[in-house]
Amino acid sequence: MSRPIILTVDDDPQVSAAIGRDLVSQYGGEYRVVQASSGAEALGVLTRLALRDQPVAVIAADQRMPQMTGIELLSQARAHAPGAKLLLVTAYADTDAAIRAINDIGLDYYLLKPWDPPEERLYPVIDDLLGDWRQANRDLTAAVRVVGHRWSDRGHELKMFLASNHVPYRWYDVERDAEAQRLLDLAQAGPADLPVVLLPDGEALRSPSILELAGALGLRTAARQPLYDVCIVGGGPAGLAGAVYAASEGLSTVIVEREAPGGQAGQSAAIENYLGFPKGLSGADLTRRAMAQASRFGAEMVLARDVVGFEARGPVRAVLLDGSGEIEARTLVVATGVSYRRLEAAGLDALSGRGVYYGVNAGEASQCRGEEVYVVGAANSAGQAALNLSRFAKRVVLVVRAATLGDTMSRYLVERVTATPNIAVRYRTEVVSGRGDGHLETLTLADRDSGATEEVPTSWLFVFIGGSPRTEWLGPDVVRDAMGFLVTGHDLMHPASPARWPLARAPFALETSVPGVFAAGDVRLDSMKRVASAVGEGAMAIYLVHRYLATV
Ligand SMILES: Cc1cc2nc3c(=O)[nH]c(=O)nc-3n(C[C@H](O)[C@H](O)[C@H](O)COP(=O)(O)OP(=O)(O)OC[C@H]3O[C@@H](n4cnc5c(N)ncnc54)[C@H](O)[C@@H]3O)c2cc1C
Repeated sequence: MSRPIILTVDDDPQVSAAIGRDLVSQYGGEYRVVQASSGAEALGVLTRLALRDQPVAVIAADQRMPQMTGIELLSQARAHAPGAKLLLVTAYADTDAAIRAINDIGLDYYLLKPWDPPEERLYPVIDDLLGDWRQANRDLTAAVRVVGHRWSDRGHELKMFLASNHVPYRWYDVERDAEAQRLLDLAQAGPADLPVVLLPDGEALRSPSILELAGALGLRTAARQPLYDVCIVGGGPAGLAGAVYAASEGLSTVIVEREAPGGQAGQSAAIENYLGFPKGLSGADLTRRAMAQASRFGAEMVLARDVVGFEARGPVRAVLLDGSGEIEARTLVVATGVSYRRLEAAGLDALSGRGVYYGVNAGEASQCRGEEVYVVGAANSAGQAALNLSRFAKRVVLVVRAATLGDTMSRYLVERVTATPNIAVRYRTEVVSGRGDGHLETLTLADRDSGATEEVPTSWLFVFIGGSPRTEWLGPDVVRDAMGFLVTGHDLMHPASPARWPLARAPFALETSVPGVFAAGDVRLDSMKRVASAVGEGAMAIYLVHRYLATV
């Protein structure tokens, strides 16, 4: 593949020469920097590049140009280079227009002139944009290939694992893709071996477990050290933030994650309320950045391992891993969030992973192309999923028990959901059963007022009806409420709480009833259930870890 293009557009020859020079010196090895001096010329260049199928990574346009402004150009450029990242180069006076363009044309970033020194003001921005572009345009030729049945729950499990761990893969459906049979022949695999995973080095894994797949991909599944300062269970926003702060502050840190880093936030197609990202960012993007940051500071990540037990061994806090193995640390941060609540409706359990899904990833969303899909739920997660799926599906039906969305979903999402032509909302409705031979084929919906039922044909149901914490593994000494949320700090001293706090000092704010065991994020009683608060609590837990360590 030829080098991807960075296109700059500026009518001022001096500014144009300066940005061209800075970009070539930094990115010239990997990218080709092409320059245009007007909007019209840039559109001509983009048309030629599109005809030659040459990828455009970034278009950086000056706002103030005669005939066509930068924003006008960038909005038209989308059609020629759909995946390109759009950067507006602007003077301070045009800041308002640039901010509006984030909503209006999907502007990715605006850069204020002058950008000197480029190491501080230009390259970090371009690095970010190129990182996002590369992530979305990874060369799939070297990727992992998975061959299986479209409706196999094992196949679904493997795809979910690969997608959420950011491993690029190609999916081959044995019934639909001719190439699938060729790959099975090459691997000398038969129907009993499905799903088969072919690794880039040619190794074929026959119906591998998640642990086997993780090991084969080189993901770490065991801890390296005998004892850590802090062990964090759960790699969602709270856990990842904790890992970044702990490792950056010199604590030996390990984080254990059973599915994939990112947690619930990793499922979000667009987090729009997280500080510092005016355009929003996807959960996958946030996770990728957080993981890079945590690893850069030296946090160790143990993946595809479920923590199933906890023991306080004198000053040591130990967690037991599924199968075998354990990790010992001086402190423990529980950041296990919540898991999706199951939808209680006849027949759905047997179809889970075969048309009935809890959460949605990019792979599934694109497999619904041209089909009618159902989403159950009325909170932000359901709204985001409906919007995400509406990009591929012919029609999305959002099934809502209440008479309105306004009480449970943020206004900006309600507005978008109701304005999207291929999303229909069915209020006062619930799913009462699902049927299908091997995979979901029909759902029965009931009107909550009249009781009338209707059977609708569909192969896709995505469920977002909230979550509950899974904290049984912590055992009886760690106090929880009736739902399983961890009680911390002040709340432990409440007269209604079982009086289990064992020390003379009061517990720290995020400390549980076992000293040195902290809770952060959605798993904590009365937490706010947002990305920002989870990140904040993850960071704060580490501050408290330091204070605890000073006492022992
Ligand atoms: C689809 C969706 C969209 C959302 N959109 C937004 C939004 O736009 N803005 C916003 O502010 N919030 C949003 N939220 C809420 C937000 O994602 C959560 O509040 C946040 O992720 C909580 O972070 P956490 O780290 O506490 O827990 P989680 O994100 O739940 O992460 C917990 C992690 O722990 C792991 N884990 C659990 N148990 C174990 C175990 N025993 N062993 C090992 N690992 C374990 C899980 O696999 C998981 O990865 C959204 C949620 C969803 C589901």
